[in-house]
Amino acid sequence: MRLVLLGPPGAGKGTQAAVLADALQVPHISTGDLFRENIGKETELGKLAQSYIDAGKLVPTSVTADMVRSRLAQDDAADGFLLDGFPRTVEQAEILGEMLGESGEKLNAVINYRVSEDVVVERMLSRGRKDDNEQTIRTRLQVYRDETAPLIEFYSDIIVNIDAEGTVEDISSATLDALDR
Ligand code: AMP
Repeated sequence: MRLVLLGPPGAGKGTQAAVLADALQVPHISTGDLFRENIGKETELGKLAQSYIDAGKLVPTSVTADMVRSRLAQDDAADGFLLDGFPRTVEQAEILGEMLGESGEKLNAVINYRVSEDVVVERMLSRGRKDDNEQTIRTRLQVYRDETAPLIEFYSDIIVNIDAEGTVEDISSATLDALDR
């Protein structure tokens, strides 16, 4: 199964992705995690990404797409994956479509986690990540509204909307139920 998780920052995508990846036996590929790993290891990619991430801005698409392309080329992603945090713009979605098309593949579904802004701000402030201060949160929400939310329309034929304000278990079982249908 080839899936994309959508939703505002703080919607709980990372938490859900871990549960779903386990249930569906596909790798969880998070661009945010890949960037943070590179920052931790002080790679060139990490150094480049850091200033964008700290400011809550998007890392340039060329860099991000190359990173995703090489991750998707690994063996464990051959039969399926759960993409978390990519695509984040229509341009990235078009690139992903091309990447998959090259090997005759396509996405099975895009899961859209719906949650109010009050809840996402509360969740982000409680997880204490370095890029979770008030100004950065505001920037990331703005980037989400301007750049990422249009993907809901872009993927309208394969979108699965899930209410993401309940418990982790409720949300993951709602997601698995929806994918079954
Ligand atoms: P996340 O862990 O998904 O909240 O991502 C953390 C940060 O990594 C984001 O605020 C962006 O700066 C960067 N990032 C993650 N995914 C992408 C992407 N697809 N395109 C550009 N930047 C990204």
